[in-house]
Amino acid sequence: MRHPRAHAWEIAAGIAVGGAALAGFRTVAGRPIRSASTLTAAGAGMAASGLMVYEWLSPRSWLYGPVFWQARTAEHVVALTFDDGPCHPYTEQLLDILDQEEITATFFQIGNNVRREPNLAAEVASRHVVGNHTFDHPQLVWSRPGTVREQLRRGQEAIHAATGSLPHLFRVPYGWFGPQVVATAEELGFRCVGWSVMAWDWNRPPSELIKRRILRGVRPGGVTLLHDGQDTDAFPKADRSHTIAAVPRIIRSLRASGYGFLTLPELMDLDAQDR
Ligand SMILES: [Zn+2]
Repeated sequence: MRHPRAHAWEIAAGIAVGGAALAGFRTVAGRPIRSASTLTAAGAGMAASGLMVYEWLSPRSWLYGPVFWQARTAEHVVALTFDDGPCHPYTEQLLDILDQEEITATFFQIGNNVRREPNLAAEVASRHVVGNHTFDHPQLVWSRPGTVREQLRRGQEAIHAATGSLPHLFRVPYGWFGPQVVATAEELGFRCVGWSVMAWDWNRPPSELIKRRILRGVRPGGVTLLHDGQDTDAFPKADRSHTIAAVPRIIRSLRASGYGFLTLPELMDLDAQDR
């Protein structure tokens, strides 16, 4: 069954088109452009269009259906998530850090990278939650539902072949949850996941800056996004050493501020209890 909000965006689209059309019609009909009605119609049309574009490109998208990006809770808990792996040697290093810290995290794996590193993917899945991050990390912002479906299916196949598990979480590349992406993922039984804080770590900023960005943006119930791989240009081209160096420091600082660590499904459960 479709989410009750699945049609909300159609209303926004109606306002966007209707507002612009009404303002245009009044202008063509010779009404003063600065009249209150024309400006109101144009303003409503522009606001609705702006909202639609923002929601299309946001990892916290609401308009097109449910995208989980933060739990509504006052508890000091956070879910660490890592995208674009598995990727040698960074994923192994990350697994060691998380083991030492006794933290279970969530990894959004790319099918093509899983195929390259099946053993590493299986190791991740044996200790952590794994989500689908498409087969080869395309930007799906304007893609047809068929393309989205194909990416999800192939990602799922690769992850299942390597790890034996079938993820039920999906994070779209770049966080661009357009209406066709959310609808298709839901149709296939996935829950869409965004994030509440990230560190632009794909640009390889110094690890101190990665740590600062995460700590500055983190809130109770938050979802952090960092990268242990690099889309389909995985090892040997990827360099995630700065991210890996930042992770233990982020964990220690969060612990010092009283934070505990949950997996995404655990954080989602907590959010559901709060309703
Ligand atoms: Zn990604």
